[in-house]
Amino acid sequence: MKPGPVTSDLTNLDALEAAGMTDPAEREMLEEVASAFRVRVTADMAAVGSEGVRAQFAPDIRELSVLPEEMVDPIGDEAHAPVPGLTHRYPDRAILHATKVCEVYCRFCFRRETVGEAGHLGAAEFEAVLDYLRATPAVREVILTGGDPLVLSARRLGGMLDRLEALGTLEVVRVHTRVPVVAPEKVTEALVRVLDRALPVWVVVHTNHPDEMTEAAAGALRRLSRAGVPLLSQTVLLRGVNAEVEVLERLFRVLIRNRVKPYYLHHPDQAKGTGHFRVTLEEGQAIMAALRGRLTGIAQPVYVLDIPGGHGKVPVGPGYLRAEGDHWVVTDPQGREHFYRAL
Ligand SMILES: *Cc1c(COP(=O)(O)O)cnc(C)c1O
Ligand code: SF4
Repeated sequence: MKPGPVTSDLTNLDALEAAGMTDPAEREMLEEVASAFRVRVTADMAAVGSEGVRAQFAPDIRELSVLPEEMVDPIGDEAHAPVPGLTHRYPDRAILHATKVCEVYCRFCFRRETVGEAGHLGAAEFEAVLDYLRATPAVREVILTGGDPLVLSARRLGGMLDRLEALGTLEVVRVHTRVPVVAPEKVTEALVRVLDRALPVWVVVHTNHPDEMTEAAAGALRRLSRAGVPLLSQTVLLRGVNAEVEVLERLFRVLIRNRVKPYYLHHPDQAKGTGHFRVTLEEGQAIMAALRGRLTGIAQPVYVLDIPGGHGKVPVGPGYLRAEGDHWVVTDPQGREHFYRAL
């Protein structure tokens, strides 16, 4: 069947097949994949139609191969949860899981086994989170994540932000979201109004491929930047999607053109059934080194690894400095080494 134009969100295999995103010959195995990991693609993303976008959302039979090192909770969200819904791993900041729902279900998601469950954070759970934050003033930043916090209505999100702001202990709230890119029409004027407040709200947009940056997505980012919302991005390094210097260069350039500062490039996490997306650390470092040589500094993200088991995120290079006897050797962006003596 020839795929027709996509006009609504795709939430099951029939819809994906009709849109030409999956192969009917693989249907039986894909049913198995879809029963293990939820399926959803927005109309905006399905309409893009490029492989770099399709591969992020279309279920793949390779997801049935689970490797021994792959884990249910690869970054240890649950290991550091003082109250349900909150992950507090670093002294000054904590993650609040405002909902488990997303607009899209990414095939490589590190929370793929918990996202998509019905319901948002309950009122009583949110009160317990507020109590914890009141008793823990060292937390100066709350990071709303999920799921995707921007699936919440402007009213509900505004209510949560009002309560967080009223604590008086926070200096910033951060929102991790894919909505401005995958469902830009959800960035309404009402939503923008609740983000534009005395307590600064920073938005970190998850985006992985330049083709995701549609005109509508650019419009959503513009509505946010015009309201004074600082915009950062995070990107997951993915084989078959963006693990090429040229693709990432285009992505980071389109981001700065849209007033978004590339923040993190994540080495892919060891989530179940995601081995086909993973690159090696050496490949990631080589890509970063190449970008350093050809891309403006304001478009350079930090390449990070979330250490499996919940031990935190750390930059993973490449390194430009090594000690040798009484001096340093520094590598320049072209790979040449230079002598540097620190006093
Ligand atoms: C990623 C993460 C953060 C945020 O880390 P930054 O380096 O500040 O972006 C905070 N808490 C937890 C538990 C995290 O996994
Ligand atoms: S939007 Fe984020 S939380 Fe939701 S499936 Fe994608 S990566 Fe996971």
